[in-house]
Amino acid sequence: MTLRTSIATVCLSGTLTDKLSACAEAGFDGVEIFEPDLVGSPASPEEITALARRLQLSLDLYQPFRDAEGVSEDQFPTVLRRARLKFRLMQRLGIDTMLVCSNVATATVDDDAVSASQLRRLGEEAEAYGVRLAFEALAWGRFVDDYRRAWRIAELADHPSVGVCLDSFHILSRGHDPAEIEQIPGDKIFFLQLADAPALRMDVLSWSRHHRLFPGEGSFDLARFVGHVLSTGYQGPMSLEVFNDTFRQTEVLRTAQQARRSLTWLEDLVARLPLQAPRPDVPVRLPDVGPPDAFDFIEVKAEDAGEVDTMLRQLGFAFRGHHRSKPVRLWTQGRARVVCNEQQAREWAPTLAAVGFQVADPDASAGRAHLLAAPAVFRRTHSNEQNLAAFRAPDGTEVFLADIADDAGWVPEFEGGEEPADDSLLTGVDHVNLAHPWQSFDEAVLFYSSVLSLQSGSSQDVAAPTGLVHSQVVRSRDGKVRLALNLAPLAFEHPHGFPQHVAFSSSDAMAAARAARSRGLRPLPIPGNYYDDLVARFDLPTWQVVEMQELGVLYDRDDEGGDFTHFYTETIGSVFFEVVQRRGGYDGYGAANAAVRLAAQHLRRQ
Ligand code: MG
Ligand code: MG
Repeated sequence: MTLRTSIATVCLSGTLTDKLSACAEAGFDGVEIFEPDLVGSPASPEEITALARRLQLSLDLYQPFRDAEGVSEDQFPTVLRRARLKFRLMQRLGIDTMLVCSNVATATVDDDAVSASQLRRLGEEAEAYGVRLAFEALAWGRFVDDYRRAWRIAELADHPSVGVCLDSFHILSRGHDPAEIEQIPGDKIFFLQLADAPALRMDVLSWSRHHRLFPGEGSFDLARFVGHVLSTGYQGPMSLEVFNDTFRQTEVLRTAQQARRSLTWLEDLVARLPLQAPRPDVPVRLPDVGPPDAFDFIEVKAEDAGEVDTMLRQLGFAFRGHHRSKPVRLWTQGRARVVCNEQQAREWAPTLAAVGFQVADPDASAGRAHLLAAPAVFRRTHSNEQNLAAFRAPDGTEVFLADIADDAGWVPEFEGGEEPADDSLLTGVDHVNLAHPWQSFDEAVLFYSSVLSLQSGSSQDVAAPTGLVHSQVVRSRDGKVRLALNLAPLAFEHPHGFPQHVAFSSSDAMAAARAARSRGLRPLPIPGNYYDDLVARFDLPTWQVVEMQELGVLYDRDDEGGDFTHFYTETIGSVFFEVVQRRGGYDGYGAANAAVRLAAQHLRRQ
């Protein structure tokens, strides 16, 4: 059997009927009906059921039923009355499982036996309506806030209609060990809800209500979590329950597709876990491709890329010629290749439009992207040109897949250029920094980690004069491919968009800065105050700091003595370049200097 997929309607924007249509179109098998979505809908329960049937969606769960147990006995009849009306409603909807969350507001009795007895009586009532109760420990429950206690209570209730709901957020946010899930019989786990989340330090209720994410977008180990659940023999759906301020606003179908992608990615990870039997046979769904081995090329698209040509020349790039059939030029240095594309670029200011990656098996990588519903990009190619598979990332960046075994690849399509010099100071692409609007940032983290098999690395908030810039690195483990995904400040407005950049690696950044200066490059001006501070932070020789200041070079050092020497160019359109030199295992991106860079860029825009 395969696992069924489901999603709570609270994850999405729009009306209940909008949500159901989007969930079906995105390929979900079922949904959880979030009560406020139903209460606010003009559609009757029967109409909702009919719509779901037409859409071939099962209605898997009705949620939530609150404040059910741990109450005084004189309050309990009120709970029963409320429950009966909801059971009747569930019959009209044809839903057989209700989420009962642990009491937050009305609990006065901290006693497992009392909660169990009340759940048992609710279960007896529910059984008459063909309903099962999935008891869930909320992380902020008044007394029951741990799934192990919720299971003890359900076990004590000892009724076939009473089981538990496991929700990854409530368990992992509290740091509770998910391994003990394996002690629960699989047929007593009535429902499984999944959410990822960023590692935050804040009260757990606000964290849950605003910051849940789809699997792959945060930092929970959900594959291991699901593995424990499947080890019990659980056969219900994997259902997403994600409360998130952004997803409540974004376009409903696109968010549903993002959600579905997150489950495909997660199912594939789970299928690869070395799990003990019994468990459902999860098929390995995605071609097993590692992360890209290298950047293949970077494309700058512009109506007139002349200024970019000049800057690349100043950075020591060799002009490798014009494309034989398109208004496209190629520049290379070391392993770095930059393509300036003026095709179909009317009124485009220079923009980072595409990133090519070298992968071991382009067909397998393209197959993986396709199964993850990455939208394909088609570019017209001639018969004598390489036709690389390409996909559109959430921010519109085009992602190309090239064969690492064919390193020359498409380069011979460029003619009339010069041979590259042997003594180039730039050796390749260290990282690419892509800016994202608020709508697509989390989606982009999932896109690159799932489609390209990259891993989430460090994240930080950098202060710019226009707002905080949140930055999340996704990278290959070996560091050969690194992308910094930046969340542009919400109010940032500029006709060319938030600047993005390519950082070239160098064997000697100071020499590269000197050589670029001699070819006429004007680096991004860095204020003198920065260099005074640099002298205070690091014990650098004065002559060295003086030369850094002359060349606009910045510097950082890590705790292990590794260091980072780098400089930035001015911005053209929305594109600028950086040259970086890593020494001694330095693995960061000069975070302390990024704020200085953002301030300098802000001044240049004024
Ligand atoms: Mg839940
Ligand atoms: Mg950088």
